[in-house]
Amino acid sequence: MKNCPKCGELLGDNVSVCFNCKFDFNGSESKKYDIKKIILSTTNEIIGYNIERYIDVVGSDVAIGTGLLSELGAAFADFGGTTARGYSEKLNQAKTYAFETLKERAKRLGANAVIGIKFSISSTLNNIFIVSYVGTAVLVSKKQ
Ligand SMILES: [Zn+2]
Repeated sequence: MKNCPKCGELLGDNVSVCFNCKFDFNGSESKKYDIKKIILSTTNEIIGYNIERYIDVVGSDVAIGTGLLSELGAAFADFGGTTARGYSEKLNQAKTYAFETLKERAKRLGANAVIGIKFSISSTLNNIFIVSYVGTAVLVSKKQ
């Protein structure tokens, strides 16, 4: 299945013209929208691209359990004056996962970019961190 890059309609893989908006996948218009590659950006604009349409807000929450061992590791690392490696590694993993999720969700909506991405971290009582990423899924086209 694939999404129409113009209207977001769910279509079969072999469909070449969208039944909803008549978007032609083989036409010249389709070359404007590259939906294979999702652009992620923390800014509200992407240089070299026009924002054609705002589609929806997409978000991704990742819970990280610190775990006793990595917690100890972080504590020891802090004690030694180096960075809290256990935490930063997990945060990096969370970020990678969250970004993949954002891309997947944007793609499903027929978007080809997520702009204005912001993230926040909150922690629960059980030493679980929630890393939340939120952004706006948009359809962009390359500036001519
Ligand atoms: Zn369509």
